[in-house]
Amino acid sequence: MTVLLTGGTGFIGSHTAVELLDAGHAVVLADNYSNSKPSVADRVTAITGQAVVAQEIDLLDRAALERVFQEHEFDAVIHFAGLKAVGESVAKPLEYYTNNLVGTLNLLQCMRARGVRRLVFSSSATVYRSDNPVPYREDYPTGATNPYGWTKVMIEQQLRDLAASEPAWSVVLLRYFNPIGAHPSGLIGEDPNGIPNNLVPFVAKVAAGVLPEVRIFGDDYDTPDGTGVRDYIHVMDLARGHRLALENIRPGVQTYNLGTGRGSSVRDVIAAYEEACGHAIPASVAPRRPGDLASVYADPALAARELGFTTEYSLLDMCRDSWHWQTTGAVAAA
Ligand code: NAD
Ligand code: UDP
Repeated sequence: MTVLLTGGTGFIGSHTAVELLDAGHAVVLADNYSNSKPSVADRVTAITGQAVVAQEIDLLDRAALERVFQEHEFDAVIHFAGLKAVGESVAKPLEYYTNNLVGTLNLLQCMRARGVRRLVFSSSATVYRSDNPVPYREDYPTGATNPYGWTKVMIEQQLRDLAASEPAWSVVLLRYFNPIGAHPSGLIGEDPNGIPNNLVPFVAKVAAGVLPEVRIFGDDYDTPDGTGVRDYIHVMDLARGHRLALENIRPGVQTYNLGTGRGSSVRDVIAAYEEACGHAIPASVAPRRPGDLASVYADPALAARELGFTTEYSLLDMCRDSWHWQTTGAVAAA
């Protein structure tokens, strides 16, 4: 297949590009580089040995997007592009709704105009309402507590409405849990601007001596060690999930969790990272972060059954690859 990856030079997009190229698919990466760098495409080429078409496109620029669809015959689109910082979305709701919703609507209009009706969308575990019991199952009710989360809920709804009105559409909603890690080459990985908000990028910077200590947001949750539990998934496993979703795509809307089904606490993550980097990581307990849940993890059974997707990488693998990226690729990319 020839696949358009919006947000293709981002963290998950770039790993998925490698996975698709290695499996014999062709990719075009479209990104406005608001949260990634053009050099990522060269690194994808360095890993795969294959030429990659990368185009600087803002999804808000409908005319530019139409030109991309005129220049290439796409069999499918994987739609990663979007703003994704929860806290920033609370401060800048209009920017988030405009970028994520209008960007998606432009994409869907272009796809329809060119007869491209296969779409895989980057959704998130954040669409599950917080009163659901864990593990989260795809048929649980959705909702959100911040503008970022609402953009995911709303885009899922747009896609369900579209597919209901035009049965030619084949849509897969992939609800990611907590993607971490990096390509084992150390050439591509997560490269957040400024001080990271997410746990593992933050721990990586403390391990590297760039930040002084990890603040553990609460140790009085109802979890085995009192710290928050999440379902961390290696980005390489996640990338394979996208390929399987694409290769098994069928008419209608399918929704799959992409997670391991296993929960790890903040202290588990710090301990695994200490093992990966070979030294102690300073950490202290701080107050709970507003809005955080005690425990979030996936029921991964549906993706296993329908896509044949099961994860292969352990938490230690994820931390090792994150550390390799932190100490080689991330520094070189800066
Ligand atoms: P990322 O920021 O690394 O990648 C997103 C890419 O989209 C970036 O390269 C950015 O420059 C690009 N982009 C943003 N707005 C654009 C626009 N208007 N036009 C063109 N390009 C645009 O993020 P990621 O971690 O790779 O996430 C990919 C997708 O997965 C996002 O939609 C995100 O919301 C979703 N997701 C991520 C996580 C996570 O923890 N990383 C979890 C659940 C869902
Ligand atoms: N967390 C933490 N310190 C940090 C960042 C996160 O203790 O500096 C905790 C957070 O409370 C949660 C877990 O780590 O329990 C994962 O947080 P992250 O922001 O990575 O993911 P999310 O909360 O979006 O699932």
